[in-house]
Amino acid sequence: ARLNSIVSTASTESEMASYLHRKCSGTPTTPNSTAVEAAKLRFFIEPGNLVLDSEIGHGEFGSVHSGWLVRKSTGGEEYRMEVAIKMLSDEHSNKQEFLREASVMMRLEHKCIVRLIGISKGEMLMMVQELAPLGSMLQYLLDHGAEISANSELKVWASQIACGMHYLESQHFVHRDLAARNILLTARHQAKISDFGMSRSLRPGSTEYQFTQGGRWPIRWYAPESFNLGIFSHASDVWSFGVTIWEMFSLGAPPYGEISNVDAIKLVDSGARLPQPDLCPAYIYAVMQSCWKERPKDRPTFVYLTEFFARDPDYQNLPELVQTVHI
Ligand code: ADP
Repeated sequence: ARLNSIVSTASTESEMASYLHRKCSGTPTTPNSTAVEAAKLRFFIEPGNLVLDSEIGHGEFGSVHSGWLVRKSTGGEEYRMEVAIKMLSDEHSNKQEFLREASVMMRLEHKCIVRLIGISKGEMLMMVQELAPLGSMLQYLLDHGAEISANSELKVWASQIACGMHYLESQHFVHRDLAARNILLTARHQAKISDFGMSRSLRPGSTEYQFTQGGRWPIRWYAPESFNLGIFSHASDVWSFGVTIWEMFSLGAPPYGEISNVDAIKLVDSGARLPQPDLCPAYIYAVMQSCWKERPKDRPTFVYLTEFFARDPDYQNLPELVQTVHI
């Protein structure tokens, strides 16, 4: 816990990313702060301690495998921990981005956020994360839609996602890519936020981050001030949260259907919003709509959203064990 607090308070993610970059390219490193030393101790995994199993997914950087991290207890006993191993297949094109994501994740520790266990460099650069055995929420919705009702796990997941986002806000990060495809399920009643590749930390005292250059942006999840002006804030993450719960109650349907990104932007700019999904009760659709208010300051906060879903009777009726949200 102490190492963690050093890492999270004393270092910026760009400082950490550049350190990791030097370390992973074999360039001698001159540790420039206690935080970097702490990160080195805590996060580097010897490739010999990793056992790779089957491929469980494929992402922007390359394949994702399940596997085991082998460690020795203080008594010398060997134990194995199930993990997900994300590989960087083409080092030359996106190593910096890969390490940037790892360096953001190093600074986060919350039960509604996928945990980074470490990074490793064998033949390939690897990010070792806690395993989410049920995979992405989007795939789960597509595969199990028939078994899901509005009164089920959807509200639990919504509350957990809002709770994780509230934590991210408390750490001054904007996620910028909140969507059903980036939520992983570690159990049927435990959703966790993943994919921090687009996350940015806000400067102290600042409430928004402005991009002057575009990129491959998930426009359909973005608020008008993001796609029009490049402005990102906790309130623009709240807009994306609204789209994410819309995907949940639509059982994985794509937002705005078949229309082009340009037409989706025109639609939102004209004041139109995603329709009420069949499965979605009116009081939850009202919350979605409040996430899509034109003015960022009119949108609800993540604290409000966490409580809103956690207070739901369906959530309250769940066994105590799965009530994992704490505000
Ligand atoms: P991208 O970077 O393209 O957003 P990822 O590389 O994060 O995608 O993940 C691709 C897929 O691999 C996910 O959709 C999911 O199915 C699987 N995956 C990623 N991380 C984990 C994990 N920690 N546990 C289980 N499955 C994972």
